[in-house]
Amino acid sequence: MTAAIAAEGLRKRYGEIQAVDGVSLEVEAGEFFGVLGPNGAGKTTTLEILEGLRRPDAGSAEIFGLSPWPRNPALLPRIGVQLQASAFFERLTAGEQIVTFGSLYGVSSAQAVAMLDRVGLAEFAGTRAEKLSGGQAQRLSIACALVHDPELLFLDEPTTGLDPQARRNLWDLLREINAEGRTVVLTTHYLDEAEILCDRVAVMDHGRILKTDPPATLIRELDAPTRLTVESGALTAEHARELLAATGTEAEVQDDGVSLAIATRTPGPVLTLLAEQDALRGLEVRGATLEDVFLQLTGREYRE
Ligand code: ATP
Repeated sequence: MTAAIAAEGLRKRYGEIQAVDGVSLEVEAGEFFGVLGPNGAGKTTTLEILEGLRRPDAGSAEIFGLSPWPRNPALLPRIGVQLQASAFFERLTAGEQIVTFGSLYGVSSAQAVAMLDRVGLAEFAGTRAEKLSGGQAQRLSIACALVHDPELLFLDEPTTGLDPQARRNLWDLLREINAEGRTVVLTTHYLDEAEILCDRVAVMDHGRILKTDPPATLIRELDAPTRLTVESGALTAEHARELLAATGTEAEVQDDGVSLAIATRTPGPVLTLLAEQDALRGLEVRGATLEDVFLQLTGREYRE
């Protein structure tokens, strides 16, 4: 089976800045693939090369086995590119926007308007695009990218700037779109988003992909300790250390005056001990996250 995307050694320089510095990736048809990285990592430039909007300085890209550059008319109906909300036509309603986008691909007005329903915007068909909320505008831009029923959808930071509820609603929509069998490639600088949505994630920084794997694999490979925190007060750090040492449980204990935090690879005995000491108030248990993966890969904190 031909991969949806196969890219090898992509490079792109803007003046002094090496925005993309040797990116290779392969995305299978039907995958939900994430490109994760902080601002300026080179995510957008990588996507623009794959979409056929930019020519790489070096390297090759194939979408469904075809080169996206120079602009390939055979590919255009098969891919959907989410435009930034600011790219809507001025003064048109949501309904008029989607009909106009659809007409570019020969899609009937009825089919185009039906797409508004698909993204939960039917009741806003008569609303001017600039009057939509951030989340609604993102839905409209996704609807415009889907209007011609593409197999592969590119989304560039679709949830940036949305409130938590709107982000979650959009996640549900993106999952549905992927469940329909479409390949979805998403860039994000939200670690939680990549972890929740993506089958595989390419962690990117300074124009390079540091690692590509399912989020769970990236996290598991870290073999990071589990972190248990409870409210300070019931048990001092010193006493906790003594009790843990007495049972031969390896753990690091810290108390910042608000929380008692215990990092350990054997959380079972630690939980038992906290329960015995009646010190479970405010208990939180946290495993490693993609944030820890980034820290390990780059040696520095993930800057958002
Ligand atoms: P963000 O999350 O901020 O969108 P990104 O990971 O998508 O970042 P890019 O937009 O690809 O990263 O940018 C990579 C680097 O290239 C950045 O340093 C950026 O300033 C620079 N850059 C991007 N586009 C251009 C351009 N058209 N001209 C010059 N420099 C650019």
